[in-house]
Amino acid sequence: MQIETIGVVGAGQMGNGIAQVAAMSGLQVIMSDIKEDFVQRGLENIVKLLSRNVDKGKMSGEEKEAILGRIKTTVDKAQLSACDFVIEAATENEQIKFNIFCDLDEICRLEVILATNTSSIPIGRIAAQTKRPDKVIGMHFMNPVPLMQLVEVIPGLVTSERTFKTTWDLALKFGKTPVKVGDYPAFIANRILMPMINEAIYCLYHSVGTRDDIDTVIKLGMNHPMGPLALADLIGLDTCLAIMETLYNGFSDSKYRPCPLLRQYVEAGWLGRKTGRGFYQYD
Ligand code: NAD
Repeated sequence: MQIETIGVVGAGQMGNGIAQVAAMSGLQVIMSDIKEDFVQRGLENIVKLLSRNVDKGKMSGEEKEAILGRIKTTVDKAQLSACDFVIEAATENEQIKFNIFCDLDEICRLEVILATNTSSIPIGRIAAQTKRPDKVIGMHFMNPVPLMQLVEVIPGLVTSERTFKTTWDLALKFGKTPVKVGDYPAFIANRILMPMINEAIYCLYHSVGTRDDIDTVIKLGMNHPMGPLALADLIGLDTCLAIMETLYNGFSDSKYRPCPLLRQYVEAGWLGRKTGRGFYQYD
């Protein structure tokens, strides 16, 4: 099947980034969310990033308009029936994703592949919500999507070779570098990254260092471009907590217990950059 139209479910920081790279690669995009405000915010972010490219001379104004012309937004999930391939990038919550996949299974044509950008939830568990588990796969982009090169491609136990190949080729079409990853909690990227971030939060919790000292040690000592606390704010503290919980429950191993300080911040609504406050404060 020729892929011409990509559906993106969730217009948050990952969803709008995925919509942008899909449109930049020449595909039509339908980006959906649950509220008009959310899709508009997602679209505004795309406009902002494309305009920055125009200002820097990396893209012409006509190219920007052509890319934007390929992106439609909707709050009516039934519109996704027009899509040839759907990428779900909604909130990292198992029940939300289960419901979305049940809906997509009803809405989308039977041959359509349903990919999830989940950071941690096993693909097989999401696939089991549908009548097409062979056509469900993980397609895990990195944040920010337009800048980051990697895509983890994660086949579940029953994902077909054809689904894998189509998804792999789509990642290449998006200009990304795909890596095949096994279907275990948090895959590779977050299985390694998130316990490090959680440990950095424990260092703050145990007053081993201040926020700035912890980030400085990792930036200057390990040559990371960002400290782990600043990175946690970029990812979203709710997403970080959800990933640690998936690791903790998925492996039944206490080494993955989420730091109580992380939980406290999330419960207070301090989710990082997206809410203006996390370990740092943002305008
Ligand atoms: P976000 O909070 O910025 O956006 C999530 C969006 O999903 C919100 O706009 C929300 O309204 C929407 N949503 C919730 N329920 C929905 C539904 N039923 N239908 C449609 N939309 C719905 O979160 P994000 O950072 O964009 O993360 C999205 C997904 O991408 C998560 O699975 C996350 O784990 C994964 N991910 C995140 C990062 C990161 O660095 N933040 C990196 C890779 C993958």
